[in-house]
This record gives sequence, C-alpha cells and structure tokens, in this order.
Amino acid sequence: MTTAQPLDVQPTPLALLLLGREADPKSERGVECPGDLPAPSDPDLVERARAAKAKLGEKVFVLGHHYQRDEVIEFADVTGDSFKLARDAAARPDAEYIVFCGVHFMAESADILTGDDQQVILPDLAAGCSMADMATAEQVAECWDVLTEAGVADQVVPVSYMNSSADIKAFTGRHGGTICTSSNAQRALEWAFEQVDPATGKVLFLPDQHLGRNTAVRDMGMSLDDCVVYNPHKPNGGLTAEELRAAKMILWRGHCSVHGRFSLDSVNDVRERIPGVNVLVHPECKHEVVAAADYVGSTEYIIKALEAAPAGSKWAIGTELNLVRRLANRFAAEDKEIVFLDKTVCFCSTMNRIDLPHLVWALESLADGKVVNRIQVDEETEHFAKLALERMLALP
Ligand code: SF4
Repeated sequence: MTTAQPLDVQPTPLALLLLGREADPKSERGVECPGDLPAPSDPDLVERARAAKAKLGEKVFVLGHHYQRDEVIEFADVTGDSFKLARDAAARPDAEYIVFCGVHFMAESADILTGDDQQVILPDLAAGCSMADMATAEQVAECWDVLTEAGVADQVVPVSYMNSSADIKAFTGRHGGTICTSSNAQRALEWAFEQVDPATGKVLFLPDQHLGRNTAVRDMGMSLDDCVVYNPHKPNGGLTAEELRAAKMILWRGHCSVHGRFSLDSVNDVRERIPGVNVLVHPECKHEVVAAADYVGSTEYIIKALEAAPAGSKWAIGTELNLVRRLANRFAAEDKEIVFLDKTVCFCSTMNRIDLPHLVWALESLADGKVVNRIQVDEETEHFAKLALERMLALP
C-alpha cells in the first residue's frame, strides 16, 4: 500500500492574497487576520457581539454600509453609503472607536474626516475594493506625466469618485480637483469645468469609467465621442496626444466588479419576465445598461425611490445583492415586488468578508482594551485628501 505524498505545490502570491493570507501594502486586498477568530459555527456569536458592544457603550460607534450582510447590519448604529457613514462618524467626536463595516477606502475616508483622537477599525483588513485597486498612486502619477507631455495637464481638473484610495484622493487635492459621490457627480463635474477654459478644459475622472461616462453623457449632454478611456496598462494610456487634446472627459479604465456584471440582456430579460417592471440601476453600471433603465441613482436614491413607490409596483434593481434582498424583504409587506436585476447571484465579495466572527473579534478586542486592524492615513496624504473632500463639501 502506498501513502499519499504531500504535493510540493506552493500557492501563488495572488491565491494567498485572495485567501486573505498574505499582505500587499500597495493594494487594498489580502491581509492575514492577526488574531484568533471565533468559529463561524459558535452558537454564541450574536450574544458575544451584544455583550462586547454593551461593554464598550458610547466609546464605540459601529457603521454598516448598505452592502453588508444582515448579520453585521444588525449591530450597526447607522447604515448608509460610504460618504454618509464618514460624515456620521465625524458627527460623533465622543466615540473613541469607529468600527467600519465596509471596505478599506471607506475606513480611510472615515479616518480622514474624524478627529485625531478617534481610531477607525476595519474588522477584516482583507475587505478591499477591486475598483479602488484599479488606480494606484504610481499609475495615476504616470498618467499625469502623460497629460503633461501631451501639453494638456494645465487644462485638466481631476475628479475622483469616493471609491478610491486615500492616495488617489490626495493626488486629486494636490492637483486642484474634487471628490464626488454617485449622488453629486454631476455637480462635481460642473464645478470642475467651471475651473478651466470652456473651449479646452477637461476632467480626468478616476477610477470608475462608468460613473464618469454616465454622468457626462446621460446627465450633462456630452457625447460618447467627448470621452476617451485611459488604460494604465498601455503605454501613454493607449491614447495619442491628439485624442487627449480633443477629449472633454478622460475616463480612467476602472470599474466595479459587481455593477459591471449587469448587461443589456439582464434588462431585456427582466422586462420580458415581469411585464410592467421598473428597472432601477446604480450609475456604476455600464452605459448601455443605464441607457436602457427607467431610473438611475445612488444607493440612497434607490432606497428613497422604493420608499416612495406605490403599492403593487414592480421593480428590478441593479445593485449589490445584500441590499436588494433586504429591500425586497422590507417592502414585501407593502405589496411592492422587488427583484434582483440579474439571474446570477452577485454579492460584493470583499464587502462580504466582514462577517460576524470578524465583528465579534474586533469588538471583543476593543472591549479588552486592545485596538486591532486600525486604519490610519498618514498626515500628508490626509492633508491633501481632506482638501479634495472639502472641495466636495463646498459644492453648491
Ligand atoms: S460594490 Fe464595487 S465599488 Fe463597492 S466595494 Fe464592492 S467592488 Fe468596490
């Protein structure tokens, strides 16, 4: 009889990152949990979370992003989109610990907007955002060199989506730009174009090409030809100096892996399956999906639209599945039929990394006086990122 020999196969660095067992300081993903997590099967997890939170009292403030699991949302003091949550955190200066149930860039924004004596905790450091990872500080600095070489940098205002790393927000602040959310992207673009010569001015929109394109074309009447896509993996972004000079919108080639999955077929299919359905999608979806939808808006807009919808109405929603399921359950009693736009299950995998074991571990550690998984933005980055965020706050 032979015994099986251990295979001499080492996991690749990428596999380790995805498993959360390796760190990549340049990326938002993949960091080993430094503590002993409770077992997911522990029947006392809910009780343990309650007890730790009660022990911490007013010292802790738990933020839950809309895309978080129900088991986590149950312990959130407030829920919302990333910007609302960062502002909620800033409005609670008495809370020593801000536990951010969301992803890394959101915790960074909360750290930027809260006081120096407040500590922001991300229960799982591997909860990154694939979109934010698509624009690194080095790539964006290289892009600026390309724009300078093409002789257009002085006519460009960067506008960065909230879903970007603190480094990218700081780049934006340094170069006279602003941050935007999916709710105020149009106002941010209008402001940016006011800062430059209307004949030659341009916006460099980071990192979500779809939000940039949808806002420019759908909301502001630009044409698709006014937009070019800068691909950081190609020399000079894959663009000629003439193309850069002719463009109004220079869109970074980034996207959300969740919203990018909805297709025109999903829209056509749901209309066939559910006659009279209203299709409501997030502006991170592809342009053709947004163009075919009945309504388009941020997560906060989606929630408000469903609250205001009449009984008996039917809705297909193109956003993250945890939120859609929660809304479907919430509004079922009001006779509003709410379905997920796609047939395929589509959670945000990194948002889902924050689960009850990680939350219990973070809360119990804090209750024992041990700060874990603190997210801290360095002073210089914070200064310039805050500048860009403040420009957004000052938008009319
Ligand atoms: S839903 Fe998309 S943009 Fe939001 S955290 Fe997940 S990958 Fe990032």
